[in-house]
Parts: sequence; C-alpha cells; structure tokens
Amino acid sequence: MYYIKKRIEVSASHQLVLDYESKCSQLHGHNWVIEVYCRSRELNANGMVIDFTEIKRRIKDPLDHKNLNDVLPFNPTAENIARWCVEQIPTCYKATVQESDGNWACYESDSDIV
Ligand SMILES: [Zn+2]
Repeated sequence: MYYIKKRIEVSASHQLVLDYESKCSQLHGHNWVIEVYCRSRELNANGMVIDFTEIKRRIKDPLDHKNLNDVLPFNPTAENIARWCVEQIPTCYKATVQESDGNWACYESDSDIV
C-alpha cells in the first residue's frame, strides 16, 4: 500500500449555524491547516498515488480567501469540511482540519481501498 499526505494552509472566513449561543455564529476567519491523506494499492502511470498539485487544485483553490459559507453547501464546521475534503479526491481516505491551535477535526472514510 502506498500512502501520501499533503498539508495545505487556507485563509478563509466562516460563520456557523448553531442551535445555541456562540461567538462562532458571527462571521470570523481562521488560518486553517488541512492535512489530506491518500492511499492506493497501485501507483498510477506516472508513479504516483496522486499529484500533490492536484490535491492543492481540488482542496485549496476552491477555499482559499473565500467565505466558506458561500462556497460549501453545508454548515462549514471543521468536521464537515474534513468530510468534504475526503469526498473531493478518489484516493483520499482521511483528512484533518485544524481551525486554530489545539482545535481540529478528523474525518476518515470507512469505504474500501481504491
Ligand atoms: Zn470558526
């Protein structure tokens, strides 16, 4: 099994829809740190699991310097963003999303290995 990991930094704002009082309901920004994990039993014709640049194109480019509420069709919690990252790349099985120092979420797919 081949594994790769890419770290991405994204500057973006969001505001959360919550059923309790929270300062997170106000529009605010983070310097998000996203780590994307991909794996494959076989390498592609270029000898890769996936090109690192392709991960940047699919994850960073749509989010960076955006209001996440405008570009993502769900409540942009760190957990939901982590799941979205996994869904953008066929070989991706796990993503972690750090909102601020000490606060991070992880989503790991339980689907079969590509
Ligand atoms: Zn936040």
